[in-house]
Amino acid sequence: MIDIQQLTFRYSRQAVPAIADLSVRVREGSLFGLLGPNGSGKTTLISILAGLLPVQGGRVTIGGDELRGNVSRIQRFSSLVPQEDVFYPSLTVVENLAFFAGVLGIEGAERQARMREVLGTTGLERARAMRAGRLSGGMKRRLSIAVGLLNRPKVLFLDEPTAGIDPQSRHFILEFVRRVNAAGTTVIYTSHYMEEVESLCDDIGILDEGRLLVQGSLAELLAGAAAANLDALFLGLTKTALRD
Ligand code: ADP
Repeated sequence: MIDIQQLTFRYSRQAVPAIADLSVRVREGSLFGLLGPNGSGKTTLISILAGLLPVQGGRVTIGGDELRGNVSRIQRFSSLVPQEDVFYPSLTVVENLAFFAGVLGIEGAERQARMREVLGTTGLERARAMRAGRLSGGMKRRLSIAVGLLNRPKVLFLDEPTAGIDPQSRHFILEFVRRVNAAGTTVIYTSHYMEEVESLCDDIGILDEGRLLVQGSLAELLAGAAAANLDALFLGLTKTALRD
């Protein structure tokens, strides 16, 4: 589904690249967990895959199409839910969804159907008339996810979707990720929570300093490193020095 070959990316005025010679393959329908310490390049990588940053070096194909030159076509079937809120706080939940559906060119009865669908998927029906800025942290995250689902993505990039939210919303989001993946969506999921990635993801990649250190199933990674769990493997590979 996603094939990345020797990808490099350097922000202007930065001496070292944020992504360095990175190659990885994400299978169609998989739930791919992307782990890495702060500053290792996770957000940069998924921003490139979602077409928000350019492919500077190397080659990326998504669904068979080369990303470079086909960004808007690929964005029609992919979606990135970033760490920041992606809605207008002064608009209500439904007003936000109607606005973003309009941006996507989804009109009329189809717009209503998609809005109902994403409200249901994210458990926000009862909050539909609330101003987005007044929602709880977990509901805000779910609204950002709802916006990201409006185009019914075949590929979904989730950047730390459970960071800093209440346990109920966290549980809901994890169940949602399982459901949407079981329904056929390929999911790339970044997280700092090892136990989340262990229980959720069928394929795991560990990044550090813009490079992919390892990739494989949990069982493969643990066997390869003779580690007892993902936490031990992660710290063994990325070392314990603080990164921020
Ligand atoms: P992660 O998501 O794993 O925390 P990032 O992709 O945010 O990592 O960052 C990777 C590297 O790129 C870091 O060294 C970070 O400081 C740098 N970086 C991130 N965003 C920018 C930016 N907008 N401008 C310059 N450097 C950036």
